[in-house]
Amino acid sequence: MEGYEFDVVIVGGGSAGCAAAGRLCATTDLRVCLVEAGPDYGPVNEGYWPNELLDSRVRPGTHDWGYAEERDDGSTIPEPRAKVIGGCSTHNQCAALWGMPADYDAWAAAGDYGWAYADLRPLIDQVEQCAEPDATHHGHGGSLPTRIYRDDELSVWQRAFLQSAEAAGFPRLLELSGPDPPQGVAPFHANVLDHTRWNSAFAFLDPVRDLPALTVYDGTTADRLLLDQENATALICRGGAGELELVARMFILTAGVYGSPAILMRSGIGPGEHLTELGIFVVTDSPGVGGNLHDHPGVAMRFGPSPAARRSVTEDYRRGALRQSQVILRGSSSLCANGFDLHVFPYLHETEAGEWEFMMYTFNMTPRSRGQVRLRGDDPALAPVIERRLLSDSEDRDIAVLVEGVLLARHLTTFEPLASTIAVEVDPGPRVKRAADLQIFARSTVDAYAHPVGTCMMGPATDPQAVVDPTGRVHGTGNVYIADASIIPQIPRANTNLTCMLIGVKVADAVVQALRELG
Ligand SMILES: Cc1cc2nc3c(=O)[nH]c(=O)nc-3n(C[C@H](O)[C@H](O)[C@H](O)COP(=O)(O)OP(=O)(O)OC[C@H]3O[C@@H](n4cnc5c(N)ncnc54)[C@H](O)[C@@H]3O)c2cc1C
Repeated sequence: MEGYEFDVVIVGGGSAGCAAAGRLCATTDLRVCLVEAGPDYGPVNEGYWPNELLDSRVRPGTHDWGYAEERDDGSTIPEPRAKVIGGCSTHNQCAALWGMPADYDAWAAAGDYGWAYADLRPLIDQVEQCAEPDATHHGHGGSLPTRIYRDDELSVWQRAFLQSAEAAGFPRLLELSGPDPPQGVAPFHANVLDHTRWNSAFAFLDPVRDLPALTVYDGTTADRLLLDQENATALICRGGAGELELVARMFILTAGVYGSPAILMRSGIGPGEHLTELGIFVVTDSPGVGGNLHDHPGVAMRFGPSPAARRSVTEDYRRGALRQSQVILRGSSSLCANGFDLHVFPYLHETEAGEWEFMMYTFNMTPRSRGQVRLRGDDPALAPVIERRLLSDSEDRDIAVLVEGVLLARHLTTFEPLASTIAVEVDPGPRVKRAADLQIFARSTVDAYAHPVGTCMMGPATDPQAVVDPTGRVHGTGNVYIADASIIPQIPRANTNLTCMLIGVKVADAVVQALRELG
């Protein structure tokens, strides 16, 4: 086994991992090692990136871990997670939204000091470089370029939705990251330059790639940490050349919502009973590891377009102007306690036959249901057991909100120009009207927004379910940190990519501070 020494080893080169590595290299002279299981195609300007990953107009289908949720009825639902440098920012829809100030304030109120919106605001300016100076809830001065989709860029399905929502009385929002007014509709900001999906590696890693202090191991899967009392001494990895031992003073896990808890559990930190069942020596019985898994649950409605709308989409596609998703409506159910609790948006899905399906998605942005992720065994090559348990809350609140979202989407279709763009509602279909039938539809087709979070929840040591403290340090350890979607205690009412990048930057700063204190 080969061994190497670093100040900080970062495990997982995704949205947060690249942001953390970039931050450490740009602000310190620490020797940083970034370990990524997928390939690294190098700086964007060298031209080795596959076009499929660059083209932001359509979501790529490759470079995926191949995970799936296994449901009680035996069915499996794919859970996309990218396996490539940049992580999910390399294959996502590029919607660049921040959570509402109240969402982050709730984290702080629950004991995560330093995570209130006012604390995070300066970091937002260090993460994002938004092209619109008047977008006051976006960042200005950071590394990730974003801009709003202009009306003249909207493809026919997006434009029809936007105009119908306005006709239905929803105000046009200046930006989807600001809280006021809570309900409304707008094209979203996107981390897209020309047509290029500007992933986390381009934004944060490329500017520091030439520094000798940075080492990137791609094609290298982290297995487990070696722990001596409360400190990790090394990370054991598997790469093309065999097993690798990386020795460091600090370790930051950024392997994402499934990868980070899996590495912790393989290292002996996790629910004691579960680890014992798998024959893993329990170093720290931490019951919260892998728990609190949640996402925005949602359903898809499908529509048959009018012949004219179908022709327009084909024409948009020929001109290279077709995008799957560009507009979001924020709505409020009757159960909403704080501004809005729904995202409704139009989406174009390409079928295997190359046809475009006209869809509308509805997502519940304030989910209460919680699932979990568990290990299948101690081999890092095994996919984890993912139990999302969407719509499982005991009061059936999540499904009630979702059904109201479907009714809202259907209401929008009665306004022009949607009314004449749609020939027929295919799913759930106009005959599915009663609340009970809509609930059956929602339960049988529910999926999620691809924003899973929470499996290494941040919280004070007094909370037995908390896995990391508000600096990102794993409770009970001295030098193991987590900095990705897994530490989010409660999902914000927004897409999660920007928040994950911010987490990477903020925890990197905490690690620098901890190293300074160590001397
Ligand atoms: C299909 C899809 C569409 C989305 N659309 C949007 C959107 O439009 N806007 C938005 O804001 N959010 C979107 N999201 C969500 C957003 O992209 C994620 O929340 C965010 O990227 C998560 O960042 P992360 O750093 O926590 O994890 P990731 O970005 O998943 O990074 C984890 C990295 O760790 C690596 N890794 C995992 N295990 C190991 C291991 N054992 N060893 C080494 N490396 C490992 C992975 O390969 C990956 O590169 C979308 C997500 C998906 C999947």
